[in-house]
Amino acid sequence: MNHLRKINLISNRNLKSRKTSLEIIDKFRQRGFLVSEKYDPSAELNICVGGDGAFLRAVHKYKFPSIPFIGVNTGHLGFFQEIKPENIDSFIMQYIRKEFTKEEVYLVNAKIVTKKKSYHITGVNEVVIKTMRSKVVHLDLSIDGNHLEKFSGDGIIISTPVGSTAYNFSAGGSILYPSLRTLQITPIAPISSSVYRSLANSTIVPGNLVITIKPEPRYKNSLLVVNDGFELKYDDIKFINFNMNNKKIYKLNFDKDNYWNNLKSKFL
Ligand code: NAP
Repeated sequence: MNHLRKINLISNRNLKSRKTSLEIIDKFRQRGFLVSEKYDPSAELNICVGGDGAFLRAVHKYKFPSIPFIGVNTGHLGFFQEIKPENIDSFIMQYIRKEFTKEEVYLVNAKIVTKKKSYHITGVNEVVIKTMRSKVVHLDLSIDGNHLEKFSGDGIIISTPVGSTAYNFSAGGSILYPSLRTLQITPIAPISSSVYRSLANSTIVPGNLVITIKPEPRYKNSLLVVNDGFELKYDDIKFINFNMNNKKIYKLNFDKDNYWNNLKSKFL
């Protein structure tokens, strides 16, 4: 019977990532692990090499697995990618000694209800609703069935706490600590005039509430749904429901101060 401990190595194609991947594969193999670049659903760990973008693509490609992720950062400063290539040796030692915590990362779910059928999508950072052509979009926003506003502007971001440092932050949203189980509704260029009254700031709601976005009928065929940067188009959208239920992925954390250090270095 084979008791080898299995690890998946997921890397983007740039030279630095390839070089770093080969080093990781070699060092883990020397310690008796089986490291595969062909995804194995029975592995104990997913190591993702690249930037935050590479992490997001891996999570979507492998369909939000329950195998925990750790990121090795060969891109810009990464929020998902904790390990620096120069610290691979200490990362491997800490991993073998089990000196890490396992974080839960809650995801945003969207149910897109069209005239013919419903579609379910999941986002790690956010789901954005905007128009396909650079037009102002008019949307009705409700929370748990309570109408909040008629939004007019470029669009609305529904962000998770881990996504709060991404598009949400650029659009003026707040930074939320990753372990919070909340969704943030952030307007993109909201119009606030005597004609259109849209909230100018973000609203943060508990993840168990349902946020509903309903386009005015004339926009039912011109909405763009952007899931972690991937564009999706649907015909005859009636409404979209968002919530944060129990769906989650896991991330290993080797340094409890990493989040705060990252935040300061990236934004200040
Ligand atoms: P991308 O080039 O893969 O990513 C755009 C930038 O967002 C990169 O610098 C990326 O970091 C960073 N990023 C991703 N997730 C982050 C997070 N959780 N916290 C902090 N920074 C994060 O672009 P993409 O393929 O279009 O979409 C991926 C993400 O980009 C989306 O989920 C969205 O949040 C973000 N985005 C931001 C804006 C904006 O800020 N105006 C506009 C569109 C999309 P790395 O360099 O480490 O990969």
